[in-house]
Amino acid sequence: MALEIRPGPVLADRTTLRLGGRALAEIVFARPEEAEGLGQALESCGGAPFILGRGSNVLADDGERPLVVVSPRLRGEPVILRQRPEAGIRVRVGAGVKLQRLVAWLATQGLSGLGGLVGVPGTVGGAVAGNAGSYGDDLGAVLARVRIWSPQTGLAWVGREGFSTAYRRFTLTGVAGFFVVLEAELDLAVREPIELRQEMVRHLTDKKASQPITAATAGCVFKNPPGASAWRLLAEAGFRGKRVGGVGFSEKHANFLVNYGGGTGREALSLLAAAREAVRERSGLELELEVRVAP
Ligand SMILES: Cc1cc2nc3c(=O)[nH]c(=O)nc-3n(C[C@H](O)[C@H](O)[C@H](O)COP(=O)(O)OP(=O)(O)OC[C@H]3O[C@@H](n4cnc5c(N)ncnc54)[C@H](O)[C@@H]3O)c2cc1C
Repeated sequence: MALEIRPGPVLADRTTLRLGGRALAEIVFARPEEAEGLGQALESCGGAPFILGRGSNVLADDGERPLVVVSPRLRGEPVILRQRPEAGIRVRVGAGVKLQRLVAWLATQGLSGLGGLVGVPGTVGGAVAGNAGSYGDDLGAVLARVRIWSPQTGLAWVGREGFSTAYRRFTLTGVAGFFVVLEAELDLAVREPIELRQEMVRHLTDKKASQPITAATAGCVFKNPPGASAWRLLAEAGFRGKRVGGVGFSEKHANFLVNYGGGTGREALSLLAAAREAVRERSGLELELEVRVAP
């Protein structure tokens, strides 16, 4: 399949929160080299580019959205590139592969480093771009190289000297603005598969008990401020279970926004604004969004 421009998708169909109106267009491609056509395709579509993986960390507003969805369907299955147990085993994987497919594959290979991310939905590209993390593991800790396309660099492999990661943050040094993650290489440690699997089962059991994982959500909507928990601040400010129309903060986990059905982007954004203000007034702390709001 070559790079393809399709009519604008409805974002509610493409995000796990199931919110959002219609984008202008969608650019779909399946091979890293096809990203070289992105500049021209974006120009012809004429809107703000917004990359969508699985849409599991995205909140989109209602109505006609002035954006062009970029969908990297880069399904390159994980492969082992180098076997050097003392330096870690290097694995390459496509950005469009589901993170859970990678996590499960790593467990069968006895490779450790991302087991804490068991149960986290989305694609490898989305996990790299947001430095997804859970139970002490995150992409930034194992990411060795990333292949990107940006208008500035074109197609390029970038090593650790070319990017930095922090809590839910991935920054390319010297690349301003738009970039697409196409492939990632990870350095992973060797571990007994049975131990890995047991640990992952424990993490998943904890998550099922503490998070509304089957509801329409985007995971945690706010980042934890240094030294504090966003869910606790929200609960203390009275936002656990609080609803506006069809959306509300979960009773199970106060930092998970849930679309209970028929919710709108407007309702979600107004609830988030009210929560930020209440937390600011009560604790003096500023909650920063973890969920990405599509323009
Ligand atoms: C039930 C549930 C539990 C969750 N638990 C966690 C958790 O424990 N830890 C955690 O970190 N997150 C968690 N999340 C949030 C989410 O799953 C992760 O952030 C995930 O990595 C997002 O991947 P995605 O493919 O869905 O990205 P999307 O939601 O589609 O996109 C997220 C952001 O990344 C950008 N992006 C996506 N793909 C690319 C790419 N190829 N190149 C460049 N930019 C890109 C998008 O433009 C957007 O800004 C949870 C979500 C849910 C619904």
